[in-house]
Amino acid sequence: MQQTRAAKHAKQAKQRKAAASRNAATVATNLPMLTAMDDTLFGLLAEPWGDFTDTYPTVEEAVAAAEEAGGGLSCFSFHDSGEYERSLHRDTDDWRYEVALYPRGPLRELVKTTWLDADDRDQAMEQLHRVLAAYVPESLRRPGLETVQRPSTTSVPRIGWAQSLPVAGMQTWEDLHLAEKKLPLLDLAPFAVGPGRAYEPLPEETFALFHEHGLSARACAGCGAPVTDRHPHWPGVLVSVEYEGGPVCDRSRLGGGAVRRVGHVLDADQARPAGQLTGKEQKVPCQNCDVHVTEQHPDWPGVWAEAGGYSRPVCAVVGSVGDDAKAYDLVDCVYPHIPAGADSPAAAAIAAAKKSRYFFQPRLPIFQASWGR
Ligand SMILES: [Zn+2]
Ligand SMILES: [Zn+2]
Repeated sequence: MQQTRAAKHAKQAKQRKAAASRNAATVATNLPMLTAMDDTLFGLLAEPWGDFTDTYPTVEEAVAAAEEAGGGLSCFSFHDSGEYERSLHRDTDDWRYEVALYPRGPLRELVKTTWLDADDRDQAMEQLHRVLAAYVPESLRRPGLETVQRPSTTSVPRIGWAQSLPVAGMQTWEDLHLAEKKLPLLDLAPFAVGPGRAYEPLPEETFALFHEHGLSARACAGCGAPVTDRHPHWPGVLVSVEYEGGPVCDRSRLGGGAVRRVGHVLDADQARPAGQLTGKEQKVPCQNCDVHVTEQHPDWPGVWAEAGGYSRPVCAVVGSVGDDAKAYDLVDCVYPHIPAGADSPAAAAIAAAKKSRYFFQPRLPIFQASWGR
């Protein structure tokens, strides 16, 4: 009863008061996003900056809210130019405004897969700090530009680079915005995706740099994506964690164009053409998508793959019902099939994902029938 009343009260006192009463980490995920760096180019309407400034019209009010929230307030912001988190936090007696820039695309994938690969994940975090510091091109290194780990919305760590400036003397958000634009950190943004052209596979040098720092850093020989075989939903199966491909390789480095779904390979010699089913395999329907699946597909030993069609081993792709901050910390973007009447390591994860609505069923029923033959 008391809880209901408290909940009702919290609802009424929404916005600033409710935000301030939660802890800093929760606040970070529930706040509207701060504007992106070049919002003036894209127009204010396209950015949630208005929401934020409605809630905190002045820097002073945001600092007061951060104070109430326990010394910090932060906002994740996804934008074409990068993935950022802006925060206000107290540094001894002074308030500082920090901009953090996170790896994205292939570099994010390399960070996450090496962390998943690690036997000692605490040690891996230290190694990741060092490797991300070393990754910054020498011409862009500046005092005050450092690597940081900030609260994640999942068990996967959120690590990146940050730079901050004092809030003292900043009256308006525009003051802060103009000061932010001069941060050398912003010059690092194009490198946050990789050292080469945007969204190209990472070069060997980047993997070598990770190796020098004691990290596993494994690339698929078929597509160049960083892969791990320690993803909690796909134990023992090489998966990528960035573009919803999961265990499926496009073999783009080896001619590509595989219609049937084949797995990642660490060695190009292992990249055999897709295997064929004999039709005599044992098959059962998947609990979640009703496609008939078999564990005996030659390309997918130990994995429940479609018993026909394109032999897809992926059952579902996570939906985008969460905000960008939550999406950033996810690595479980694809789920395997779960055979009816049997169990698999991903069963509990899928059940939890369904509960939190992080479950999107991409197949239309009309396709299920033909693919499941
Ligand atoms: Zn691959
Ligand atoms: Zn399924």
